[in-house]
Amino acid sequence: MNILPDFRTLRPTSLAEAVSALATGGEILAGGTDLLPNLRRGLGRPETLVDLTAISNFGAISVGADGVLRLGAGLTLEVLAEDERVRASWPVIAQAAALVAGPSHRAAATLGGNLCQDTRCVFYNQSEWWRSGNGYCLKYEGDKCHVVVKSDRCYATYHGDIAPSLMVMGATAEIVGPKGVRSLPLSELFREDGAQHLALEQGDVLAAILVPPAQGWVAAYTKARIRDAIDFPLAGLAVALKRDGDAIAGLRIAITGTNSAPLMVATDALWGRPWTAETAEILVQAVRKTSNVLKTTLTGVKYRRRVLLALVRQQVDALWTGK
Ligand SMILES: Cc1cc2nc3c(=O)[nH]c(=O)nc-3n(C[C@H](O)[C@H](O)[C@H](O)COP(=O)(O)OP(=O)(O)OC[C@H]3O[C@@H](n4cnc5c(N)ncnc54)[C@H](O)[C@@H]3O)c2cc1C
Ligand code: SF4
Repeated sequence: MNILPDFRTLRPTSLAEAVSALATGGEILAGGTDLLPNLRRGLGRPETLVDLTAISNFGAISVGADGVLRLGAGLTLEVLAEDERVRASWPVIAQAAALVAGPSHRAAATLGGNLCQDTRCVFYNQSEWWRSGNGYCLKYEGDKCHVVVKSDRCYATYHGDIAPSLMVMGATAEIVGPKGVRSLPLSELFREDGAQHLALEQGDVLAAILVPPAQGWVAAYTKARIRDAIDFPLAGLAVALKRDGDAIAGLRIAITGTNSAPLMVATDALWGRPWTAETAEILVQAVRKTSNVLKTTLTGVKYRRRVLLALVRQQVDALWTGK
């Protein structure tokens, strides 16, 4: 039977208190929908959990006089998916939030927890007895990777749905930590290392996400999954497009479910060109080059690769034609 380990819980009421509570160790607890199942499987034994749910205004949504959307990291995905301002001006973000897991998850899960969720792998998201029988692995308690056997890094996959939609809208992350407040482009919050996939130091808290006005970008998020009612993306992508007559005036693509981090795809070669079979093939090759689908899920690698490449064509087609 999987049971939670013993830990104490602190419940700060401000971000400053949360940062000091974390200074001496401990792990952040938000909605718990990712962290608690992992702890029940023996993936981590923190002595202290710092519960962020009592911090005032941590889940606030506002739009500044400059048109910038500010999303508190404590916002639940249910509220994010249903907020009228987000749906009207940044619909891709609400769309991605609505596609995370199922309704009961979204009622508890937070934006911060979704972005910072752990990477996943068939050799990692298993019970203690299963992992011990398999000699553990280098992401946790072991020294070998079973996916890329000769590797000294972990290739566990990032399966968060919301990061790509924020990335294509040019979002930045606001982080509060022991050294104060800092901002960075959201794409720089992530690292391509399945065991260390976040650029956060001990004591750092993701406080908010800032999204500039959409200014002519139209965008959409799409994902492939086994069960539409609940599953993680086997492959997912957000596309933001600006069309100027018959030319692509701007194109941004971010992928998830394929690598240890959500990644932007280089699309510069397509800017200024029309969307044709030729440019579609250039884009497909760019997505293929950026993605690194490995045997980290039960679903086959070939299927996930093919579905990713099919989705990118379909999604750009849909935005290009407005259908
Ligand atoms: C059955 C199931 C299906 C799921 N399906 C999907 C899916 O389809 N798409 C998807 O994207 N995800 C999915 N998830 C993953 C996850 O549950 C959700 O993404 C959820 O958003 C996590 O948010 P949370 O608030 O519950 O995070 P928690 O579980 O509380 O935290 C997750 C991690 O983030 C850290 N963290 C939380 N908040 C912060 C912060 N503000 N600053 C720094 N670190 C922080 C925690 O320390 C922890 O390591 C699924 C999970 C399950 C169990
Ligand atoms: S990719 Fe390798 S090291 Fe990472 S979780 Fe899977 S088996 Fe472990």
